[in-house]
Amino acid sequence: MRGQEGKFRSRLLNWYERNRRDLPWRLPMSAPRDARLDPYHVLVSELMLQQTQVSTVVPYFHRFIARFPTVQALAGADEQEVLRLWQGLGYYSRARNLHAAAKKVVNEFHGRFPRAAQELRGLPGVGRYTAGAIASIAFDEPAPAVDGNVARVLCRLHGHESETQDEWWTCAGKLVIGPRPGDFNSAMMELGATVCTPKAPKCLLCPVAEHCEALAGGMQEKLPRAKERKITPLERRDVICVQHNDRWLIEQRPAKGRWASMWQFVTLPRNGKPLDGAHVREAVGHQVGSLQKRATLKHTLTHRRYEFHVFIGAASRRSRKDDAGRVWVTLEQLQQFPMSRPQSRIAQLLASEKTDFS
Ligand code: SF4
Repeated sequence: MRGQEGKFRSRLLNWYERNRRDLPWRLPMSAPRDARLDPYHVLVSELMLQQTQVSTVVPYFHRFIARFPTVQALAGADEQEVLRLWQGLGYYSRARNLHAAAKKVVNEFHGRFPRAAQELRGLPGVGRYTAGAIASIAFDEPAPAVDGNVARVLCRLHGHESETQDEWWTCAGKLVIGPRPGDFNSAMMELGATVCTPKAPKCLLCPVAEHCEALAGGMQEKLPRAKERKITPLERRDVICVQHNDRWLIEQRPAKGRWASMWQFVTLPRNGKPLDGAHVREAVGHQVGSLQKRATLKHTLTHRRYEFHVFIGAASRRSRKDDAGRVWVTLEQLQQFPMSRPQSRIAQLLASEKTDFS
């Protein structure tokens, strides 16, 4: 690669122009060369794409931008609505950070995004990668942006592993200098996502195969080496779905931690003992009869696995007033409350069973 950077860039950019996927957060192919993307759209797409596949993100991006077309619209939104629109994408801290970043842009920068990668990093949820992506794509700054795809491409091009990601950031920082830095970063990501894939890279189709040390050494399938898989801890929960007439009791989660401020059926850590009436009455605040186990749902996150044991029962009465943080709602009204994916699955289960325990 040394001394070949210019050739490498132009091969990659030519390939990108002809092969890039048409995605809603990119400018259309027909856009003039000097057209620039709205940094707000880049921020929304980059946060949605963290840990989530492109095909999943596309409809969410359309819905989100239709509802909040500008950074001002998002800054003025109610957090519950933002979470509701994000529902199903998971990793909800991204939605909260996006909302907080929009408020910061509006309140501290008069609605105009900072242009430099360094300054962008002051926005909630914007790390080194996202800052580099926004600065290069929206503002033409030759800032590197190294995500998992780009790191893999660089590792293979150089034909060796690196102890830390710093080597790839330094390397990407040198390569991005030149015309069209935003397209260059997007092209590196696109190459990693579509050609230099984790398994079975399509080297015959690769525009930069001539520069690849891994291919020259027959190491393209062996680099980077697979990381040892850690055993993720398992957490068990009892979920008590309590019904009275056509209403169900739900509660809001605490404002901090996983699934913060979202809603759920009454959910308790499972302590290994079977649920008894006294424990349920204390947790729910009502006598619950006909308690029946209905399902066990599993949910896996990057660093944790969950097992939800779902029970359904009937309350003999319901409090006249809602308790703090708890409300009785119909299944239709439930649509207005943001819920995590496992809790939404439980709601779907109730709807499909049309259960009536009252
Ligand atoms: Fe990746 Fe193969 Fe291209 Fe090397 S030649 S960068 S391994 S796709």
